[in-house]
Amino acid sequence: MKAKLISKLILSSKKTVVLTGAGISTESGIPDFRSPDSGIWTKFDPFSMTSDILYNDPEKFYRNGLKFLEFLYSMRNSEPNKAHIALAEMEKLGLISAVITQNIDSLHKKAGSKKVYEIHGSLMEAYCMRCKSRTSFDELVEKVSSGNIPPDCSVCSKNGKRGILRPDLVLFGDLLPESFNISVREAGSSDMLMVVGSSLEVSPANQLPMESKKFIIINREATYYDGMAEIVWHESAGVALEEILDELKKRDD
Ligand code: NAD
Repeated sequence: MKAKLISKLILSSKKTVVLTGAGISTESGIPDFRSPDSGIWTKFDPFSMTSDILYNDPEKFYRNGLKFLEFLYSMRNSEPNKAHIALAEMEKLGLISAVITQNIDSLHKKAGSKKVYEIHGSLMEAYCMRCKSRTSFDELVEKVSSGNIPPDCSVCSKNGKRGILRPDLVLFGDLLPESFNISVREAGSSDMLMVVGSSLEVSPANQLPMESKKFIIINREATYYDGMAEIVWHESAGVALEEILDELKKRDD
């Protein structure tokens, strides 16, 4: 029933964008932040790895964060699930214009989505805080794990300077990247925004639904925005998106 209603909205919308959160990746085995019992914040302290600590005391940042970095590193072997794949297919069918994601796991790109805005960065890269040269996230984690804390920038070292690497992730206290500004414009020019797997508790990402003419929410648990949404479906992302895709495909039957 909800799948039918949502597919009708998508078909009648000139431009639909999608906002995803950690909930879309739990079926790929990556825990989200806020689900009770299983959320990442039940194991790691988010305020031990802020941008403030990174810039003022990088050694403390990396000592605090070693376990968390290794956990993030292990995320990189995950595979997209039914929900990521359904969104990639909807894009191919010309039914969604872009995916804006709060996730750092790159699973939308792995699933084949082309227009993806990773507004909180990704686990692919790291860069030097001094010279800005870029390297892989792997190199950063390998350095930290082997005791190079804080991890030094090889480019700066070659020039006899001391640069420190940081992950290309948005930490608490960081400014958001340009992809966020583009996402605001994408949402603002859309007829509909579909939220998938987000508690909508993280600002300013949670402002994006309000930029669109209307929004719908697919999330296992209730969010503060449920009352303002056109349709709310408390269902798992994989089940919901697959059913919606089936309905969308029926239009050709
Ligand atoms: P969140 O943890 O605050 O909320 C996730 C929501 O998803 C919860 O409300 C939960 O009920 C719901 N959910 C869990 N599994 C689901 C499923 N299978 N189907 C549908 N809904 C499901 O996540 P958030 O809103 O994205 O905000 C947290 C921040 O955490 C983001 O900024 C993101 O950068 C970061 N994060 C990213 C990852 C990742 O890259 N996969 C993982 C954890 C956290």
